[in-house]
Amino acid sequence: MTASLLLIIAYSISPYSLLLQRRSSSSINPTIQQPVAGGGGEEEEVLSSEQYSCVSRQQLHIIRSSYSSSKPSPFLLSRLKEYEQRHKRCDPFSESFNRSSRELIRVQNSPDSLDCRYIVWTPVNGLGNRMLSISSSFLYALLTNRVLLVDFGPDMVDLFCEPFHNSTWFLPRDFTFKGRANTPEFRETYSLGKLLRREEEEEEQKKEMPYVASLLQLFLSYDNDDYDKLFFKSETQPLLEKVPWLVLRSDQYFAPYLFLMPCFRAELDRMFPDDKETVFHHLGRYLFSPSNQVWGHITGFYDAYLAKADRRIGLQIRVFSLDKTPASLILSQVINCIQEESRIIILPNATTTTTTTASSSGRNRTTTTTTAILVASLFGQFYTELNKMYKEWNEKAGATVVGVYRTNHEEIQVLGSSSHNMKALVDIYLLSMCDVLVTSPRSTFGYVAHGLAGLTPWILQSQDIEDEEQRVKEPACRRGVSKEPCLQFHANYYDTNPDHREPGGPVPVIMDCEDFQYGLKLVNRRV
Ligand code: GDP
Repeated sequence: MTASLLLIIAYSISPYSLLLQRRSSSSINPTIQQPVAGGGGEEEEVLSSEQYSCVSRQQLHIIRSSYSSSKPSPFLLSRLKEYEQRHKRCDPFSESFNRSSRELIRVQNSPDSLDCRYIVWTPVNGLGNRMLSISSSFLYALLTNRVLLVDFGPDMVDLFCEPFHNSTWFLPRDFTFKGRANTPEFRETYSLGKLLRREEEEEEQKKEMPYVASLLQLFLSYDNDDYDKLFFKSETQPLLEKVPWLVLRSDQYFAPYLFLMPCFRAELDRMFPDDKETVFHHLGRYLFSPSNQVWGHITGFYDAYLAKADRRIGLQIRVFSLDKTPASLILSQVINCIQEESRIIILPNATTTTTTTASSSGRNRTTTTTTAILVASLFGQFYTELNKMYKEWNEKAGATVVGVYRTNHEEIQVLGSSSHNMKALVDIYLLSMCDVLVTSPRSTFGYVAHGLAGLTPWILQSQDIEDEEQRVKEPACRRGVSKEPCLQFHANYYDTNPDHREPGGPVPVIMDCEDFQYGLKLVNRRV
């Protein structure tokens, strides 16, 4: 069954009870091996049906359909279906892929005969950044009829199920530039920015560039320069159309910027006609189904600690520097936010319903419906303090009114570790299964959680507290303006100021981010 078909079915069934009927899945690993280019006979061996039994995909669609009010548009669904056919036709097991790869090696110019063109995603930065840039690359692939392949290292191959049924999105293990595309040399030789700079500076050098018509790197990470940014001009796109291999380096959610580019606007409006705040929501849910191993951890924790609560509150506490901002200050800010500013948690007596059940001793015992708080943070002290505080509340109330839980506390961010990334994905998904979210400013980790959830979060005030008295800034948090993630670093080609727009003009859906100066995000209406 194709993923887009699953998406349609999922939206038509909604047995909420299935939410709790999860089966343990840690013994099955759906992540397929990375293929070898021109695999041919290996296909059978690599693509066994068991490896495709992605438990989270089946269960998440059912769980989510019971509460998600947002449905993908028929046009988006048809584009996804078309994409799946293209992916299958062009995937690394296909003859078309072999042909395109040979052209890459042979250094031909503008090989018009090739029917498959690719965008290869490469990893930069943490998991949140990566998931945002993968989903943006996928949107670009949809818009430009390309095929998305990913150059995952060992730290990512076990995180997700294959998104496209009976196919793979992994760049083959032995592919010519596998694992090498993030080097300065690669950028120097192949990047669009360097090409455009050279073209401007010295006409001859352009001719010496190998592969120029077959392969270009799009250097779109936060540290790009003005030449790299030219990607975001509509006028550059015809040049890229001729290039069969684009290799992307980005840690940004650049999808909002595609809405600003005149060449893509009409198509994007058809894909997302009404709800512009669900771009990541739909694409992220479509692409990222946790592997069975990760899903086993997610469901195990959810069933043990969150399922029984009446309300689940996700607190994402991302601290970029504990030296700059003491933990005690952040803790006060969090408490201030959830109890005063947002009033997500109010006095126990007002929120709780009490039921009486028989205990094992035979005497009646009072249990209380509860709020479960999931604390996701690298640092353990936030959980410890909140747990202590609410335990005291519970003692006073004579029942567990508020339960505080955490999955892990890694203490430091680690790049390149599979187990660290798995824990991060577990936290992201558990946050996305909460009913209310409080997130930290500027954190792509939080963006992914609320985007997948389809929730507008409460966002904590910036934690860079320079005030000598070290007071918590007021207000401690604010309600966000959109469910969408923020594009933090971008180009300034298109005017996004609503006051400058012509009446009925083309860009009604972009706003400044609440948490990032000069950042942009998609909104349904400007506030
Ligand atoms: P950002 O730096 O906040 O924008 O988010 P990223 O996800 O790009 O990078 C932060 C990385 O630090 C994550 O990918 C994790 O590896 C780690 N990390 C940060 N916060 C948490 C957390 O709450 N839980 C876990 N398990 N890891 C975290």
